[in-house]
Amino acid sequence: MTKLKQYKMFIDGEWVDSDTKKTFETLNPENNKPWAVVPEASANDVDRAVKAAQKAFEGEWPKLLPRERGKYLRAIADKLRKNAELLGEIETIDTGKLFRETKKQANYIAEYYDYYAGMADKVEGTVLPIDKPNIQAITTRVPIGVIAAIIPWNSQMLLTVTKLAPALAMGNTVVIKSSELAPAVLFEFAKLVEETGIPKGVVNIITGYGDPCGKALTTHNLVEKIAFTGGPETARHIIRNSAENLSEVSLELGGKSPVAVFEDAHQENAINGITAGIFGASGQSCIAGSRLYLQKEIYNEFLDKLAERAKKIKIGAPMDPKSEMGPISNFKQLEIIEKNIKLTVEQGGKIKCGGKRHSFSNEGYYFPPTIIECDNHNLPTAENELFGPILSVMKFENEEEVINKMNDNQYGLSSAVYTSDFSRGMRVSKAIRAGITFVNTYRLISPSAPFGGMKDSGYGKEAGIESIKDYTRVKTTWYYTSDKPTLDPFSMR
Ligand code: NAD
Repeated sequence: MTKLKQYKMFIDGEWVDSDTKKTFETLNPENNKPWAVVPEASANDVDRAVKAAQKAFEGEWPKLLPRERGKYLRAIADKLRKNAELLGEIETIDTGKLFRETKKQANYIAEYYDYYAGMADKVEGTVLPIDKPNIQAITTRVPIGVIAAIIPWNSQMLLTVTKLAPALAMGNTVVIKSSELAPAVLFEFAKLVEETGIPKGVVNIITGYGDPCGKALTTHNLVEKIAFTGGPETARHIIRNSAENLSEVSLELGGKSPVAVFEDAHQENAINGITAGIFGASGQSCIAGSRLYLQKEIYNEFLDKLAERAKKIKIGAPMDPKSEMGPISNFKQLEIIEKNIKLTVEQGGKIKCGGKRHSFSNEGYYFPPTIIECDNHNLPTAENELFGPILSVMKFENEEEVINKMNDNQYGLSSAVYTSDFSRGMRVSKAIRAGITFVNTYRLISPSAPFGGMKDSGYGKEAGIESIKDYTRVKTTWYYTSDKPTLDPFSMR
């Protein structure tokens, strides 16, 4: 039997076990075998991590010149680039995501650290046009304090940088809780953070379950902000938890993103974009374009071509560079997918391709690209977030109808429209209630592009120039500029 890899948590610059000595195993979705053991943080461990972050916040870190903090971010970026291969491999083993994507992402995530490093000294205050004599008043942006970053199992490196980099750039300290479903890559990342020589306690990385670890972290009285990415049910817990410590909350939640294809769309381009949107990362992406609306004139022809493309997707081992889709990350997801497909078929949904577990391996949970024709978008696969390679397809007649249909879902994270009519592209993209709309493309990210949703997909944006301000508070300072004493202390001036 191969020996399992052992990880420790990174608290106050030390590598530690849980104080209870409890651990859990993390599985490799390729074969569902345990491959690593990680500590399970107790409430005491969380307390230790938060107190370390608080101590670091009271220390030199927020007082460093902004560009000095930026240098640490650049050092992290350099180390990511040098270690992209290792980080990609670990993320792949832990999540089942394709190595060709995780390795590329680890490299690209370095760009986010560079972006925020450059921004560390660009956040300015204001001089207020104040309506009082002998007064100069200014605003400055000051760090918030200890930030709790709660990360889901997918895209851990990306969803960490969008919280960690702006938080550090602005002088905050951070406790990151990785997902219990795939915690390993963040511990590998912690090793690189340590190598930069960043002061102890500025970055702490722990892992554990929602309860007690997540709960203890999000209720801790020293935590000032919770940056959460995950599902809407967990978000409800987080908001309730934040009532305990009155911390600010930002939420990046799920999606059921609609895609419309008009009869004048460039079909090959649309097929590529749809394939990237729902079958990339086996559909296990919060922005997966999982509701497809086809204009009736092209419905049959387009759907046939799309299904042909989907059937050609190469399912395989996640480390194999030729694989285009790997396994589903965990059994819970597989169960949700299978249950929703069954219910949809019972209610009249017609499977165009896929629909049943793939025979590639009987150890991992491989699920093929699946397309289901639905009479209406209230069928289960068309309505619920599935986090899998399942595309529900509906027909529409005109622009107004498709806009209404696209907006008729609780979520509002991503969306897309394919058309060669520029004006229509503009109209439809404006009318969609979603945080992101792609026109004639899909699945792009960038440090300079704000990312986040509307409606039940959450609030607060990650990435982009504005998001750095979410890791600051505005402070107003009044200066009295006269040499004479102020008069009448009993009336507010
Ligand atoms: P999840 O909500 O189950 O877990 C997310 C994190 O919350 C995990 O670290 C988990 O341990 C923690 N948690 C659970 N209960 C908690 C509690 N009571 N208090 C504090 N923390 C708690 O999500 P998941 O299954 O890991 O990820 C999938 C979900 O994440 C999907 O809904 C997906 O759409 C969403 N997601 C959103 C984005 C985005 O940017 N909008 C990106 C990726 C994933």
